[in-house]
Order: sequence, then C-alpha cells, then structure tokens
Amino acid sequence: MARIGFIGLGNMGGPMATNLVKAGHDVTVFDLSADALAQLESVGATAAKTAHEAVQNAEYVVSMLPASKHVLSLYLGNPETGVEGIVNAIPAGALVMDSSTISAEAARELAAGIIGQGRRFIDTPVSGGVGGAKAGTLTFICGGDAADIEEARPILEGMGKAVFKAGAHGAGQVAKICNNMLLAVLMTGTSEALQLGKAHGLDPKVLSDIMLQSSGRNWTLEVYNPCPGVMEGVPSSNGYQGGFMVDLMLKDLGLAIETAATSNSATPMGEQAQKLFKAHSDAGEGQRDFSSIFNWFGQQGK
Ligand code: NAD
Repeated sequence: MARIGFIGLGNMGGPMATNLVKAGHDVTVFDLSADALAQLESVGATAAKTAHEAVQNAEYVVSMLPASKHVLSLYLGNPETGVEGIVNAIPAGALVMDSSTISAEAARELAAGIIGQGRRFIDTPVSGGVGGAKAGTLTFICGGDAADIEEARPILEGMGKAVFKAGAHGAGQVAKICNNMLLAVLMTGTSEALQLGKAHGLDPKVLSDIMLQSSGRNWTLEVYNPCPGVMEGVPSSNGYQGGFMVDLMLKDLGLAIETAATSNSATPMGEQAQKLFKAHSDAGEGQRDFSSIFNWFGQQGK
C-alpha cells in the first residue's frame, strides 16, 4: 500500500481521500477547513497542519482544489502573496496527480515546474460528480507520460472505475473541459425541456420517464434530474445543496471558451450556456448545485 499526501478535501476531495483510506493506503491530508480535516481524521486519515507536512513523506500526491490559481500557488508558490510552494517538500521522484479542473496551460506550467524540480506530474481531472466520488466510480482523464499514468492506475482505481489517457500533459484537462461544456449544454437543454412540459401541465416525472426512453435521453435525466422531487438522492431533491456549484461550472465554461479561442473553434452552444449560468450566478445562486439552472428557466417570463 502507498503513502499518499492528499490536499483539498471539499465536496469531491473529501470522499476521494476517504476511499483511498478504505483501499488501505496510508493517507495524510490537508485542507484550509478544520471541519474537512476532522472528517477525514474520523475515517482513519492522518491530518497534517500544513500542506508541506502532508506531502513530506509521500510517494504519491493528489490535489483537488477549486481552480488554476489555487493549484499553481500550492505547488509553485506565489511571489505576490509570499506563499511558498510545496514542490520542494515532496520527496524526489514522487508522482503528483492533480485532479482539479484547471486550464490546460496551467497543467503544462505545473508539469514544467514540478518535473523541473525532479518530481513527476500527470494531470488527472475527473468526471462523475460527488455521487461518483462517494461511490468510488469516478472517471479519470489523464495527461502525461504513459508510464506515469500506468503507475498511477492502481491509486486512481481506489477512487474510480475508469482511467483514460487523453494525451500529453494538459490533454487530460482539454478532454475534461470538452466534457463539461457538453454537460452544461445538456443540463440547460434538459431544464428548458422540463420547464416547457411543466408549463403545459405535464408531470415532470412522467415527462422525464418519456424522454429517458426517447431520443432526448442523456446523463442529466439518467442520474442527475434537475427538477425537485423527480429523483431521490440528487441535489435537486435537497435544496440544490452539495454537488457541483454553479460558479465552478461557470469557471469550466470560461476555460472552454478560452481554449476554443486558442484554436479558433466555434463554440456557440458553450457560449450560450455560459451566458445562462452567468445570469443565474449574478442572481445570487452561484453557491448552489449547477442543476439549479432549472429554476432560472422557471422564473423567466413570470
Ligand atoms: P470545493 O470548493 O467543495 O472544495 C475545494 C476544497 O479545497 C475546499 O475544501 C477548500 O477549503 C480547499 N482548498 C482551497 N485552497 C486550498 C489550499 N491552498 N490548501 C488546502 N486546501 C485548499 O470544490 P469541489 O466541488 O470539491 O471541486 C474541486 C475541483 O474538482 C474543482 O476544480 C472542480 O471544478 C472539480 N470537479 C468538481 C466536481 C463536482 O461535482 N463537484 C466534479 C468534477 C470535477
């Protein structure tokens, strides 16, 4: 079993680190939140006082932070804020896996900075949501050297069921960004259709069942229905708490549009979804689960 340093114990990182403990690994964790640290300690992880301490004996390091700036600052430091990066605290030769969703450019910058200091790095963003993190069924979308990805596979399989190699460093993030842009389009489209049916007197549960057996079938209808009361155990039936925040989806759509600009790719659907989530966030809903976009459609024209 491996010695793992794990940084970032939020909605995703908390259950991911828990599953590594359950898989028998020796896991040392750090988060800025004392509650998140205490939760992991209660399931058998060792809580560190600093990120440096969490990684100092690690063979593998996993991070799960909000955005590019947090991950770059964690590993490489930030001269403006005086934060010292942890890269030199990690034992030489250890393998770093960053599972946060960040820009491909930031992932390549991390690869250069970490590998330049004699450690190894792969980008390992995930798909599958909080449900997948809890159940240990995440999909890992990796970028980096094939040998490093193969070495990481048993660790990643402690938290997920599928490990893909998308390409070189940064390619994991490009694939993840493409996936999340499509997810945003599916969630807004599904919400629009359900609200249209509801406005015409249809029961959203019946309409969902019909679309699930018809050509509109998609992941949001299968496991993440945005309409309250249709499905148990999803954020829409829990006041849109937990899950994947509107502001994180907005961050990912920003990454998608930036990535598209670098290749002159047309992304009008992604841009439309970005406008909708921005309007929803501006209305004060940024901290709710992204399926709450269903409510935005319900409030229009009223
Ligand atoms: P979150 O906000 O719930 O968790 C982030 C955690 O990082 C928090 O506990 C915070 O305290 C901690 N943190 C921030 N800066 C830190 C630092 N410098 N040192 C230590 N801890 C620090 O976010 P999340 O939903 O867990 O998402 C994490 C990443 O995973 C994001 O990049 C997100 O886009 C991606 N993601 C989320 C989902 C989802 O469904 N929530 C799905 C796939 C990918």
